[in-house]
Amino acid sequence: MTDHYAVLGNPVAHSMSPAIHAFFAANLGDDISYDRLLVEEGNFDATASGFLANGRGCNVTVPCKGDAFRFADTLSEYAKTALAVNTLKKLDDGRIYGDNTDGRGFVADLKFKGVSLNGARVLILGAGGAARGILKPVLDEKPGEVVIANRTLSKAQELQKLFGSVVKAQSTETVRDGFDLVINATSASLSGSLPAIDPGVLSRSRRACDLMYSQNGETIFTEFARKQGCPEIFDGFGMLIMQAALSYELWRGRMPDFEVALKHFRKNS
Ligand code: NDP
Repeated sequence: MTDHYAVLGNPVAHSMSPAIHAFFAANLGDDISYDRLLVEEGNFDATASGFLANGRGCNVTVPCKGDAFRFADTLSEYAKTALAVNTLKKLDDGRIYGDNTDGRGFVADLKFKGVSLNGARVLILGAGGAARGILKPVLDEKPGEVVIANRTLSKAQELQKLFGSVVKAQSTETVRDGFDLVINATSASLSGSLPAIDPGVLSRSRRACDLMYSQNGETIFTEFARKQGCPEIFDGFGMLIMQAALSYELWRGRMPDFEVALKHFRKNS
Protein backbone atom coordinates (compact mmCIF):
# COMPACT_ATOMS: atom_id res chain seq x y z
CA MET A 1 0.00 0.00 0.00
CA THR A 2 1.26 3.46 -0.90
CA ASP A 3 2.06 5.81 2.01
CA HIS A 4 1.27 9.47 1.35
CA TYR A 5 3.47 12.46 2.20
CA ALA A 6 3.58 16.09 1.03
CA VAL A 7 5.22 19.47 1.42
CA LEU A 8 3.01 22.38 2.56
CA GLY A 9 3.93 26.02 2.00
CA ASN A 10 3.51 29.05 -0.20
CA PRO A 11 5.07 29.03 -2.74
CA VAL A 12 5.71 25.29 -3.17
CA ALA A 13 5.99 24.98 -6.95
CA HIS A 14 9.80 25.38 -6.75
CA SER A 15 10.25 22.90 -3.87
CA MET A 16 12.75 20.10 -4.48
CA SER A 17 11.26 18.00 -1.66
CA PRO A 18 9.04 15.79 -3.91
CA ALA A 19 12.05 14.86 -6.08
CA ILE A 20 14.33 14.30 -3.06
CA HIS A 21 11.84 12.06 -1.24
CA ALA A 22 11.00 10.13 -4.44
CA PHE A 23 14.75 9.51 -4.83
CA PHE A 24 15.07 8.29 -1.21
CA ALA A 25 12.05 5.98 -1.64
CA ALA A 26 13.31 4.53 -4.92
CA ASN A 27 16.71 3.78 -3.35
CA LEU A 28 15.14 2.15 -0.30
CA GLY A 29 12.46 0.28 -2.29
CA ASP A 30 9.63 2.09 -0.46
CA ASP A 31 6.20 2.70 -1.99
CA ILE A 32 5.33 6.34 -1.28
CA SER A 33 3.66 9.31 -2.93
CA TYR A 34 4.86 12.87 -2.20
CA ASP A 35 2.80 15.91 -3.28
CA ARG A 36 3.05 19.68 -3.15
CA LEU A 37 0.20 21.47 -1.32
CA LEU A 38 -0.11 25.22 -1.70
CA VAL A 39 -1.35 26.77 1.56
CA GLU A 40 -3.52 29.85 1.09
CA GLU A 41 -3.15 32.54 3.76
CA GLY A 42 -4.84 31.55 7.03
CA ASN A 43 -5.54 28.05 5.72
CA PHE A 44 -2.74 25.99 7.23
CA ASP A 45 -4.77 23.98 9.76
CA ALA A 46 -7.45 22.98 7.23
CA THR A 47 -4.83 22.01 4.62
CA ALA A 48 -2.74 20.02 7.10
CA SER A 49 -5.75 18.30 8.73
CA GLY A 50 -7.19 17.44 5.32
CA PHE A 51 -3.92 15.92 4.15
CA LEU A 52 -3.09 14.09 7.38
CA ALA A 53 -6.50 12.38 7.45
CA ASN A 54 -4.91 9.90 5.04
CA GLY A 55 -1.27 11.07 4.90
CA ARG A 56 1.45 9.69 7.17
CA GLY A 57 3.41 12.94 7.45
CA CYS A 58 4.43 16.14 5.74
CA ASN A 59 7.17 18.70 5.43
CA VAL A 60 6.38 22.35 6.06
CA THR A 61 8.16 25.24 4.45
CA VAL A 62 8.04 29.06 4.36
CA PRO A 63 5.87 30.78 5.61
CA CYS A 64 4.08 27.99 7.50
CA LYS A 65 6.69 26.68 9.97
CA GLY A 66 5.20 28.73 12.83
CA ASP A 67 1.68 27.52 11.93
CA ALA A 68 2.91 23.93 12.00
CA PHE A 69 4.48 24.58 15.41
CA ARG A 70 1.06 25.65 16.76
CA PHE A 71 -0.76 22.85 14.92
CA ALA A 72 1.29 19.93 16.34
CA ASP A 73 -0.08 18.10 19.41
CA THR A 74 3.37 17.22 20.69
CA LEU A 75 6.81 18.65 19.87
CA SER A 76 10.47 17.61 19.80
CA GLU A 77 13.01 19.64 21.83
CA TYR A 78 14.39 20.95 18.52
CA ALA A 79 10.97 22.25 17.48
CA LYS A 80 10.44 23.80 20.93
CA THR A 81 13.67 25.79 20.81
CA ALA A 82 13.25 26.75 17.15
CA LEU A 83 9.58 27.75 17.69
CA ALA A 84 9.14 26.23 14.24
CA VAL A 85 8.24 22.85 12.75
CA ASN A 86 9.40 21.61 9.34
CA THR A 87 8.22 17.99 9.75
CA LEU A 88 4.85 16.66 10.94
CA LYS A 89 4.24 12.98 11.59
CA LYS A 90 0.95 11.25 12.36
CA LEU A 91 1.53 9.02 15.38
CA ASP A 92 -0.16 5.62 15.83
CA ASP A 93 -2.64 7.14 18.31
CA GLY A 94 -3.63 9.80 15.74
CA ARG A 95 -1.85 12.71 17.46
CA ILE A 96 0.43 14.90 15.36
CA TYR A 97 4.13 15.11 16.29
CA GLY A 98 6.10 18.19 15.21
CA ASP A 99 9.87 18.16 14.72
CA ASN A 100 12.45 20.49 13.23
CA THR A 101 15.18 18.75 11.23
CA ASP A 102 16.73 21.90 9.68
CA GLY A 103 19.37 22.47 12.37
CA ARG A 104 20.26 18.80 12.75
CA GLY A 105 20.51 18.62 8.96
CA PHE A 106 22.94 21.53 9.01
CA VAL A 107 25.15 19.95 11.69
CA ALA A 108 25.02 16.51 10.01
CA ASP A 109 26.15 18.11 6.76
CA LEU A 110 29.04 19.82 8.62
CA LYS A 111 30.10 16.45 10.02
CA PHE A 112 29.91 14.91 6.56
CA LYS A 113 32.25 17.70 5.39
CA GLY A 114 34.63 16.87 8.24
CA VAL A 115 33.90 20.07 10.17
CA SER A 116 33.90 19.71 13.96
CA LEU A 117 32.26 22.37 16.10
CA ASN A 118 33.77 21.10 19.35
CA GLY A 119 35.58 24.06 20.94
CA ALA A 120 35.11 26.10 17.75
CA ARG A 121 34.41 29.83 17.56
CA VAL A 122 31.28 30.29 15.46
CA LEU A 123 29.71 33.45 14.06
CA ILE A 124 26.04 33.31 13.10
CA LEU A 125 24.82 36.20 10.98
CA GLY A 126 21.07 36.64 11.44
CA ALA A 127 18.63 35.96 14.26
CA GLY A 128 15.53 34.80 12.38
CA GLY A 129 13.94 31.37 12.12
CA ALA A 130 16.93 29.62 10.52
CA ALA A 131 19.40 31.00 13.11
CA ARG A 132 17.10 29.95 15.92
CA GLY A 133 16.64 26.52 14.33
CA ILE A 134 20.36 25.75 14.09
CA LEU A 135 21.27 27.05 17.56
CA LYS A 136 20.41 24.01 19.68
CA PRO A 137 22.05 21.46 17.34
CA VAL A 138 25.11 23.75 17.08
CA LEU A 139 25.33 24.17 20.88
CA ASP A 140 24.91 20.38 21.32
CA GLU A 141 28.31 20.07 19.59
CA LYS A 142 29.94 22.12 22.41
CA PRO A 143 31.46 25.02 20.51
CA GLY A 144 33.78 27.34 22.48
CA GLU A 145 31.82 30.48 21.59
CA VAL A 146 28.88 31.43 19.39
CA VAL A 147 28.53 35.07 18.41
CA ILE A 148 25.16 36.05 16.96
CA ALA A 149 25.28 39.22 14.90
CA ASN A 150 22.06 40.64 13.56
CA ARG A 151 20.95 43.81 11.79
CA THR A 152 18.39 44.24 14.59
CA LEU A 153 20.55 43.74 17.69
CA SER A 154 17.61 43.17 20.07
CA LYS A 155 16.72 39.91 18.28
CA ALA A 156 20.28 38.61 18.75
CA GLN A 157 20.09 39.65 22.42
CA GLU A 158 16.88 37.65 22.84
CA LEU A 159 18.71 34.54 21.59
CA GLN A 160 21.62 35.26 23.93
CA LYS A 161 19.18 35.36 26.87
CA LEU A 162 17.50 32.17 25.78
CA PHE A 163 20.56 30.06 25.01
CA GLY A 164 22.94 31.10 27.79
CA SER A 165 26.57 31.85 28.38
CA VAL A 166 28.28 30.43 25.27
CA VAL A 167 26.12 32.69 23.10
CA LYS A 168 26.99 36.38 22.74
CA ALA A 169 24.97 38.96 20.84
CA GLN A 170 26.73 41.65 18.84
CA SER A 171 25.68 44.13 16.18
CA THR A 172 26.96 43.05 12.76
CA GLU A 173 29.06 46.17 12.06
CA THR A 174 31.12 45.77 15.25
CA VAL A 175 32.35 42.22 14.55
CA ARG A 176 36.08 42.25 13.73
CA ASP A 177 37.55 38.83 14.74
CA GLY A 178 38.10 35.78 12.58
CA PHE A 179 36.10 32.60 13.34
CA ASP A 180 36.40 28.87 12.74
CA LEU A 181 33.04 29.06 10.98
CA VAL A 182 30.93 31.99 9.76
CA ILE A 183 27.30 31.03 9.02
CA ASN A 184 25.14 33.34 6.97
CA ALA A 185 21.69 32.62 8.40
CA THR A 186 20.21 35.90 7.17
CA SER A 187 17.80 35.89 4.25
CA ALA A 188 19.84 38.69 2.58
CA SER A 189 21.10 36.37 -0.21
CA LEU A 190 17.50 35.78 -1.31
CA SER A 191 17.30 39.45 -2.33
CA GLY A 192 20.85 39.54 -3.72
CA SER A 193 22.29 41.51 -0.80
CA LEU A 194 24.91 40.98 1.87
CA PRO A 195 24.77 41.49 5.64
CA ALA A 196 26.84 44.52 6.68
CA ILE A 197 29.81 42.46 7.85
CA ASP A 198 33.39 43.77 7.73
CA PRO A 199 35.04 41.89 4.79
CA GLY A 200 38.12 41.38 6.99
CA VAL A 201 36.09 38.98 9.17
CA LEU A 202 35.87 36.62 6.19
CA SER A 203 39.59 37.03 5.38
CA ARG A 204 40.42 36.06 8.95
CA SER A 205 37.97 33.11 9.17
CA ARG A 206 38.66 29.46 8.33
CA ARG A 207 35.27 28.60 6.85
CA ALA A 208 32.13 30.35 5.67
CA CYS A 209 28.75 29.02 4.62
CA ASP A 210 25.43 30.35 3.43
CA LEU A 211 22.28 28.52 4.51
CA MET A 212 20.81 29.53 1.19
CA TYR A 213 21.70 27.21 -1.69
CA SER A 214 21.92 27.44 -5.43
CA GLN A 215 22.31 25.10 -8.36
CA ASN A 216 26.05 25.69 -8.78
CA GLY A 217 26.77 25.99 -5.04
CA GLU A 218 27.43 29.74 -5.25
CA THR A 219 25.41 32.52 -3.62
CA ILE A 220 26.21 36.22 -3.30
CA PHE A 221 27.57 35.44 0.19
CA THR A 222 29.80 32.49 -0.83
CA GLU A 223 31.20 34.64 -3.68
CA PHE A 224 31.85 37.47 -1.21
CA ALA A 225 33.63 35.10 1.20
CA ARG A 226 35.73 33.67 -1.65
CA LYS A 227 36.78 37.17 -2.73
CA GLN A 228 38.04 37.86 0.81
CA GLY A 229 40.23 34.73 0.63
CA CYS A 230 38.27 32.57 3.08
CA PRO A 231 39.74 29.09 2.41
CA GLU A 232 36.67 26.82 2.77
CA ILE A 233 33.23 27.80 1.57
CA PHE A 234 29.92 26.02 0.99
CA ASP A 235 26.20 26.66 0.56
CA GLY A 236 23.08 25.14 2.20
CA PHE A 237 22.49 22.39 -0.33
CA GLY A 238 23.84 19.62 1.89
CA MET A 239 21.62 20.95 4.70
CA LEU A 240 18.60 20.76 2.38
CA ILE A 241 19.25 17.11 1.50
CA MET A 242 20.13 16.16 5.08
CA GLN A 243 17.05 17.77 6.66
CA ALA A 244 14.95 15.83 4.15
CA ALA A 245 16.77 12.58 5.00
CA LEU A 246 16.10 13.17 8.71
CA SER A 247 12.38 13.77 8.00
CA TYR A 248 12.29 10.55 6.00
CA GLU A 249 13.94 8.66 8.86
CA LEU A 250 11.45 10.11 11.34
CA TRP A 251 8.52 8.99 9.18
CA ARG A 252 9.77 5.60 8.08
CA GLY A 253 12.48 4.51 10.52
CA ARG A 254 15.20 4.14 7.90
CA MET A 255 17.88 6.68 7.00
CA PRO A 256 18.32 7.30 3.27
CA ASP A 257 21.83 7.35 1.81
CA PHE A 258 22.66 11.04 2.09
CA GLU A 259 25.85 10.93 0.06
CA VAL A 260 24.27 9.22 -2.96
CA ALA A 261 21.38 11.72 -2.90
CA LEU A 262 23.71 14.70 -2.53
CA LYS A 263 25.78 13.65 -5.55
CA HIS A 264 22.67 12.94 -7.61
CA PHE A 265 20.95 16.26 -6.91
CA ARG A 266 24.06 18.45 -7.19
CA LYS A 267 24.44 17.09 -10.71
CA ASN A 268 20.78 17.08 -11.74
CA SER A 269 19.12 20.02 -9.96
P1 NDP B 1 13.74 35.02 8.63
O1 NDP B 1 12.85 35.91 7.82
O2 NDP B 1 13.17 34.31 9.80
O3 NDP B 1 14.99 35.87 9.19
C1 NDP B 1 15.69 36.70 8.33
C2 NDP B 1 16.98 37.16 9.01
O4 NDP B 1 17.79 37.77 8.02
C3 NDP B 1 16.79 38.18 10.12
O5 NDP B 1 17.81 38.02 11.07
C4 NDP B 1 16.97 39.52 9.34
O6 NDP B 1 17.44 40.59 10.15
C5 NDP B 1 18.07 39.13 8.39
N1 NDP B 1 18.11 39.92 7.16
C6 NDP B 1 17.20 39.94 6.15
N2 NDP B 1 17.62 40.76 5.16
C7 NDP B 1 18.81 41.27 5.54
C8 NDP B 1 19.75 42.17 4.97
N3 NDP B 1 19.52 42.69 3.77
N4 NDP B 1 20.88 42.47 5.64
C9 NDP B 1 21.12 41.91 6.85
N5 NDP B 1 20.26 41.04 7.47
C10 NDP B 1 19.14 40.73 6.82
O7 NDP B 1 14.39 34.01 7.56
P2 NDP B 1 14.90 32.52 7.87
O8 NDP B 1 15.70 32.58 9.10
O9 NDP B 1 13.76 31.57 7.78
O10 NDP B 1 15.84 32.19 6.58
C11 NDP B 1 17.19 32.62 6.51
C12 NDP B 1 17.92 31.89 5.40
O11 NDP B 1 18.07 30.50 5.71
C13 NDP B 1 17.25 31.95 4.03
O12 NDP B 1 18.25 32.29 3.07
C14 NDP B 1 16.77 30.53 3.79
O13 NDP B 1 16.79 30.21 2.41
C15 NDP B 1 17.81 29.73 4.55
N6 NDP B 1 17.35 28.37 4.93
C16 NDP B 1 17.94 27.28 4.33
C17 NDP B 1 17.55 25.98 4.62
C18 NDP B 1 18.21 24.82 3.91
O14 NDP B 1 17.69 23.69 4.01
N7 NDP B 1 19.32 25.02 3.25
C19 NDP B 1 16.48 25.72 5.62
C20 NDP B 1 15.94 26.92 6.24
C21 NDP B 1 16.37 28.19 5.89
P3 NDP B 1 16.41 41.49 11.02
O15 NDP B 1 16.13 40.72 12.25
O16 NDP B 1 17.18 42.73 11.28
O17 NDP B 1 15.21 41.71 10.14
